[in-house]
Order: sequence, then C-alpha cells, then structure tokens
Amino acid sequence: MLITNLGYPRIGSNRELKKASENYWAQKITLDDLLEAGKQIRIQNLKLQQEAGIDIIPCNDFSFYDQVLDLSLTLGAIPNRYKESGLTNSLDIYFAMARGYQKDGKDITAMEMTKWFDTNYHYIVPEFYKDQEFSFYSKKIIEEFIEAKELGIQPKPVLIAPVSYLLLGKEKEEGFNRLELLDRLIPVYIEIIKELVANGAEWVQLDEPFLVLDINEEEKQAIKYTYDQLSEACPELKIVVATYFEGLNKNTDLAISLPVNVLHLDLVRNPEQLDPVLLAIPETLSLSLGVIDGRNIWKNNYLQSLQTIYKAVKKIGKERILIAPSCSLLHVPCDLDAETNEEVLTPEIKQWLAFAKQKLDEVVIIKQLANSENITQAAKKLEDNIEINKRRKDSTLIHNQEVKQRVLNIEDADSQRQSAFEIRKALQVKELNLPLFPTTTIGSFPQTTEVRSWRAKYKRGDLTKKQYEELLRKETEETIRFQEETGIDVLVHGEFERNDMVEYFGEQLSGFVFTKNGWVQSYGSRCVKPPVIYGDVSRPQAMTVCWTKYAQSLTEKKVKGMLTGPVTILQWSFVRDDQPRYETCTQIALAIRDEVCDLEKEGIKIIQIDEPAIREGLPLRKENWAEYLNWAIKAFKISSCGVADSTQIHTHMCYSEFNDIIEDIADMDADVITIECSRSQMELLDAFAEFNYPNDIGPGVYDIHSPRVPSKKEMVSLLEKAATVLPAEQLWVNPDCGLKTRHWEETRAALVNMVSAANQLRKEV
Ligand code: GLN
Ligand code: ZN
Repeated sequence: MLITNLGYPRIGSNRELKKASENYWAQKITLDDLLEAGKQIRIQNLKLQQEAGIDIIPCNDFSFYDQVLDLSLTLGAIPNRYKESGLTNSLDIYFAMARGYQKDGKDITAMEMTKWFDTNYHYIVPEFYKDQEFSFYSKKIIEEFIEAKELGIQPKPVLIAPVSYLLLGKEKEEGFNRLELLDRLIPVYIEIIKELVANGAEWVQLDEPFLVLDINEEEKQAIKYTYDQLSEACPELKIVVATYFEGLNKNTDLAISLPVNVLHLDLVRNPEQLDPVLLAIPETLSLSLGVIDGRNIWKNNYLQSLQTIYKAVKKIGKERILIAPSCSLLHVPCDLDAETNEEVLTPEIKQWLAFAKQKLDEVVIIKQLANSENITQAAKKLEDNIEINKRRKDSTLIHNQEVKQRVLNIEDADSQRQSAFEIRKALQVKELNLPLFPTTTIGSFPQTTEVRSWRAKYKRGDLTKKQYEELLRKETEETIRFQEETGIDVLVHGEFERNDMVEYFGEQLSGFVFTKNGWVQSYGSRCVKPPVIYGDVSRPQAMTVCWTKYAQSLTEKKVKGMLTGPVTILQWSFVRDDQPRYETCTQIALAIRDEVCDLEKEGIKIIQIDEPAIREGLPLRKENWAEYLNWAIKAFKISSCGVADSTQIHTHMCYSEFNDIIEDIADMDADVITIECSRSQMELLDAFAEFNYPNDIGPGVYDIHSPRVPSKKEMVSLLEKAATVLPAEQLWVNPDCGLKTRHWEETRAALVNMVSAANQLRKEV
C-alpha cells in the first residue's frame, strides 16, 4: 500500500505567496524575487511531504494565482486581448488574464472568475472561441517536475483532465460547443505527457471532478474517448484519475472502465460509493482511497478509516490500494503548529484539529497501521487517536443540553410568520410610513483605513474599549447624519464595529473558535480565515443591539438592524463533523432568532438578515438540492419568524442567479429582498416577475464593486426598467451590496444620485 497526495496548499505557511505577489504587483519587488519566492514555497512543500513519508508526491500543484489559469497558459489558451497587450513576459500576461491590465492607455478586462465547485476557492474561467487553437505554450509543468526530481523525488505531475478543463470553461462566441475542441486539445495533452515521460515521469494525475457531477451522455463519451487516446499514446505512463467532492454514483461504470491505473475516490464526502466500485472493479485498476478530509480541519478517526481500507483490501488486495486525503489539501490551512496562542485556540480544542501538514502525518500513520509497518509506534498513535476522538465526543465544551433540547422543541409555527405577506404588508405600510420606491443601503458604510486602524489599535491594547467604542460611535453618528441629509428613507448604523460579517458574530457566539494563522486561499492572493464551529452554538448575550439602538437613538427615521443569517455563517466556517450540518445550522438559526427578537423588543422595526451564501451551499448534485434547501430555508425562517407582523424582515443576497431556486427564495418569505442586479441590467428580475414573486424587492441599482459613480440618469433608467417588470409598490431602491470596500467620496456622490433617481420615479408613476 502506498500513500499519494493530491495537492498541497501553495500560499506558504505564513502567506509568503500573498506577500510576494502583492509586492510584485505594486512593483516593490522584481520578477526574479517573485519567482524565487514561489520556488522556496514549492521546495518547502516538497521536502515536507518527502520527510513526512508520502510515497507519491504531487508537483505542478503550485500556482502563482490559480491552477485552472495555469493550465490555460500551459495550453496556450490565451485570449487575443492579452496577446495584443504588448506584455512580453508570460507571467505578466498570466496576471493580466487574472486581474486585468490598466496601464499606458491600455485597458484590458480580466477573465471571469467563479467558484471551484462547492468550495470557497475561485478559479479563472477559460475562454473558448470557435477557432480555438491549443499549443504547449508554458512549460511550467516540466520545470516543476524537474525541480522536484532534483530533490530526489519521483513526483506525480497534476493536471486537470481535458474534458473537465473544457467543461470548466465557457464558449465566448456562438455557433459551437466547447466539447468539439477536444480533438484539438488531446494532442497537446499527449505532447505534454510525452515530454514528462522523456524527463522520467512514471505517474500523472488527471483531475476529473466532473465524473462526480450530473453529466450527459455526450460528456461521458468524451471522457471515455479521451482516456482511450491518452493511454494508447502513452502506454508506459501510470495514470491516476482523481475525483473529489462527491461520489461517482451513475458514473461508476464509466469511471472503472477507463484504461487507467488508479482511480481516486473521495470517501469522506461519499463513503457509499466504495461498495459499488468494489463490486465491479476490473483487475487492472487500483484504487486510491481518500479517507482523510481535505475540506475540513478535524483529526481523522483512524479506526473508521482503517475499516474502509480493510474492506477494500479484502476485495482487491493491498497491492492495488493507495491511501490519500480526500482531495487536494488546498482547502485547509497549512500548519496547526503555528497556532501557538493558547488564548485564541485552547489546547483542548487544538488537539482535535489537523491542518495540511498534520494531515500528511495522519495518512502516514494510517498506512503504517494498515500495512502493519512500524507497528509499536503506530499502535501507540492509534491509541492516542482513539482517546482524543473519545475525549472530543464526550467533551463538556461541545455539548450544551439546553441548546439540544431547544432544537428538539422547535415547532412548525416557529418557522412561519403569524400572517400572510399581504396582511403584514398592510400593517408595515401603516407602521413605517415609507414613500413609494423607498431608499436604503445594504448595511456597511466605508471601512476606511482609519476605522480599521482603530480596531487594530484596540486589539493591540493601544486603545481602551471605551476609547475604541467612542470612536465608533462618532463614526456611526456621522453616518446617520449623512444618510439623513441625503434623504435616505431607511437608515443603517454602518457596521463599523465589524471586521467581517461572519467573524463578528462567531466571536460572540458560543461554540466558535478562531485561529491566528489558519488562512485558506480564496482567489489569487486573497486568503480567508474561516472560524471553526466546534460545539453547540448559543448566544450568551445580545450581539448587535447596543449599536443598532444607539443609531436609532440619533434619528427620527427608521434604522434597520443588520444580522448575518444562519446559512451564511455555516457556509463560511469550518463546521463540526460530529453532527449533520443542518443541526448546526438550526442552532445558529436559534441564536440569530434571539437577536432578532431582542432588536424588536428594543423598538427596531426593520431587521435585515443577510444570506449571500444560500445559493453557494447548494449540493453538487441536483438530486440533493431539495434536502438542502429544505433545511437551509427553514433555518432562515426560524431566525426571522419570531417577530410581529408589523416588523419588517429584509434579506440580502449578492452574486446570485435565482432562476432555479426562485420558489425557495419565495418560500423564505422575507418582506423585502435586496439583490445584486445592476450588472445584469435588471435581467435578474425576470425570474421574480415570471414567478409572480409577491414580496418586496430591492434590485441593486448600482454596482458597488467598482469606484465608478453612477449617474442619476442611469439609475432612473434601471428603475424604469424594473418598474416595467414588477409593480412599483413592490420596488425598493438600493445599491447592490454593502459599501464597506468603497471610499466616502464616491459613496456620497452615488447615494445622492440614487436618492434623486428614486425621487424622479416617484413623480413618474
Ligand atoms: N450587510 C453586509 C454589508 O453591507 C452584507 C455584505 C454581503 O452581502 N456580502 O457589508
Ligand atoms: Zn451583498
């Protein structure tokens, strides 16, 4: 039995890559400095895996920005606008593709970016044209292969397989289907693989994540066809086909019939797929068993992993089995050893965790146990592992009987408003006394360097709590005055006290911990540090009431309370794996419900519960959507339905397509939903109109993701368009997301224009 790894985090354990790339973009370091920084990270990662005892170590899993973009460059799939940019260095072209290029009168847009399956990683979407050509353009894969070889490693280069690569991309003109490009693509893959073999490669890993999605007959044929071609052209090479994030299900027969050496299965996400694979597997195929969770940060349960492995051994023998993490370790932080601050992450909780480096050790021990190697030591580790898992299971830190009981006591009425929307609306109209086309914002106002510096000083101890809060109060007051002067109808306090919309709540809820250095790549140089939900979630005390109340005390106008919803908090955290996600989500929902009720008690009449992540939580396979939506929507409703009919509940979603889940969004029954819409010229509204969506909608009338100040005229015309699709009584006027990342200057100008656009519409109807 050997160990293989699918990929290692490339940001460096101290985010060295982020720092180097950003310095390079700011022209503070040279290209050579940047290349050297990349090399150091790669070498460190390779050595780390070598020393840990990984038998088959990946290479080409490093990337300066994104592995899909790397592949586009490798294959010469570079859109013309970059070829004509005048840039000569291929890394500069590469960064222009990722980030756009604006210099010396040139203005080239970036390629599109989107989420990597159901992760929070984003990749750069390949662009395909009808006369698309491919060539072996960037030799990165060969260079990185040789570099690893020089360390005495026999590396396994990783590539996204041809069909998955095409499916990840988009046709940029009409009149062809990107799968038709396959015959032009395969020869380049063959060329790459032959050159790898000429340099001494024995293995290659082809990632085929689409094998675990719902694919059609044509796509299936294309996959089969590709491997037939590749294996015929390079018979001496051992191919690993890697799948992850789901199970093979209906694609099992296809996957096991491919002429390859190893098939990798994600047995963390979908352990059920093992049995059908074992039943039908041909003798020529080996299995790579992904038993260590590459998507979460909990220590493995060795006994459970061993059981899975023994089952496979019994059926096909040790020689045909490899052991591995479930997917690339890209999605977990680098190194738990860096968490040295015991106040942040207590030793009791820390012992339950494993980051990428620790996961390598876990695979090694599991292999030793399964192979009966190094047995005294391995057996000791097994004992420890059993003990730690038992301690975690029984820990008093995790279990809160009161919370569990409360979840059990939830009744249907808890997730229903008292009356239907029409009745609520009538009561709210009376209570709130708002004009037609009411104006509001999504919550945050500019988080200036100054505001952020106060927080940093407060955290360092350079400001007392009192001083810090005084500064925030001043900022809040100015923001209230600004909104009043501008004539906005529903005000917000500005969210200055919040670093991040999930972290702020996580820090105040029980059951959450934070890391100091647990960074995970989100896109390019951007990293996130997700909170860890380790136990039953409860709310020791109110989290936002004092800020909202303070803001409300300053004005006669209505101030909207701002909360993050349960699904978004869940989605953007590392979630405990000892109970189903819906259970954790329900607990969070109850905590948010309490906050909503407390706000209401304090006289807040409008409360917004943001749920930007509802859509991204959708399972990869459609057959699992209903189950997810069922509990996710219910969680939102539990959080929002504890209020009187006259209290108005808002929700907000950004970057969403709504067509296929419009029924569920309607089912959320928020009195008002604000959505991103400005970039799509209100087209998103069609889904709501077609569905006859009954509740109020605030289609974002301007794009806050750009410093551009939209004119009144533009916004009027968007609103007029909206008013042709939906009745005016249903429409609100607002930007398309929070203003946190904007500067005051453009924010002021844009909101003034927005209010006069609303005024104009009021006159027109
Ligand atoms: N209320 C949040 C804000 O305004 C919403 C952010 C979001 O939608 N991602 O920043
Ligand atoms: Zn948003």
